[in-house]
Amino acid sequence: MQIFHPGDPGYDDERSGFQTGRKHEPSVIFAVENAQDVQEAVTYAETRDLDHAVQTTGHGLTTATTGVLISTKRMNKVEIDPATRTARTEAGAVWQQVIEKAARHGLAPLSGDASDVGVIGYTLGGGYSVLAREFGFAQDRVRATDKIGNVITAMEFELLRVDEVHAGEMHFDAQHAEAVFDAFHKWDLPDHVTTTITTLGDVVRLTCTSTKRFDIDHLRVAPRLKDEFARKPFAEAAGAPLPPHTYSGDNVLLSDLPLDALHRARTKAENAGVPIFLSIMPLGGVLNTEATHLLKLISPQLNVEEHYEEVFDEVRPFVLGKSRNFRYAVG
Ligand SMILES: Cc1cc2nc3c(=O)[nH]c(=O)nc-3n(C[C@H](O)[C@H](O)[C@H](O)COP(=O)(O)OP(=O)(O)OC[C@H]3O[C@@H](n4cnc5c(N)ncnc54)[C@H](O)[C@@H]3O)c2cc1C
Repeated sequence: MQIFHPGDPGYDDERSGFQTGRKHEPSVIFAVENAQDVQEAVTYAETRDLDHAVQTTGHGLTTATTGVLISTKRMNKVEIDPATRTARTEAGAVWQQVIEKAARHGLAPLSGDASDVGVIGYTLGGGYSVLAREFGFAQDRVRATDKIGNVITAMEFELLRVDEVHAGEMHFDAQHAEAVFDAFHKWDLPDHVTTTITTLGDVVRLTCTSTKRFDIDHLRVAPRLKDEFARKPFAEAAGAPLPPHTYSGDNVLLSDLPLDALHRARTKAENAGVPIFLSIMPLGGVLNTEATHLLKLISPQLNVEEHYEEVFDEVRPFVLGKSRNFRYAVG
């Protein structure tokens, strides 16, 4: 195992992850390769009364540690047992590895819209999959975990018998946002469809995924800049890796989302004076949660929490809490 201190060659590379706007500031980094290394790192932190944090990809970095950083990216074995439809992953595995290996057996995990996200970090936050309304949270498929302190060194979870899905996206010019959000809100969404609508500056993007066919003609309320839906391998619906960048993000889980509140929140985000992209994911289906919607905000800028709160004010009566996932460089 390699160990890095500030000033060592490799220290900066090791602590750098997907989030380029914020980095851990550890006094020591343990670049772990197996469970014994994790034990050594945890014992080091505990005996010196230091904070310790885990980093796999850095996608989910919120608060930076100044104590011990346990960097897990080298500890990333993935094994699939097709007979029991089980995947076993080590601490630092990412979804892409599981998706590729599982697909060889006609299987798929409950991964999300970014395949370079860490399996364990994602699952600890519930895991809102692109098939969430059809099959539930990723965390509900966990069969076993190996742990040292609060570090999960390995996890076993169930895979689904899914090889292909119906999936795609539509893009509209943002000038049609009101009509598109209206149609989205009115949609009597079948339980098997998982969908998200997102404002991206000049564009409104709508994505849908299901293992079954679905009808979305009623959402074609304005000309489309892109309109691509097809039956495709699950891997193609599982999100391509993105390059590292600076961003911040926050979310709220809602007990309801009336149309007027949705439009007010959308307009607030649009007129915030800083770029804020708003995204709505209807929950329900087989998801066993009181929340009906997840509202996510994301910005290419840091320190815009005040603006996020102003958007959340528009839905405040319906806020139940937050998802641990979809919080980036805040708090
Ligand atoms: C582009 C993008 C798309 C995303 N899409 C989705 C999505 O579709 N659905 C969804 O649910 N989430 C999604 N997320 C959120 C993502 O699941 C969380 O940010 C998650 O925390 C990322 O985990 P990581 O290991 O990749 O990140 P890291 O920053 O490396 O880790 C995040 C946190 O996870 C914990 N952690 C990681 N590994 C371990 C371990 N072995 N033991 C104990 N704790 C550990 C630590 O607390 C750590 O601080 C997305 C994030 C991004 C940036």
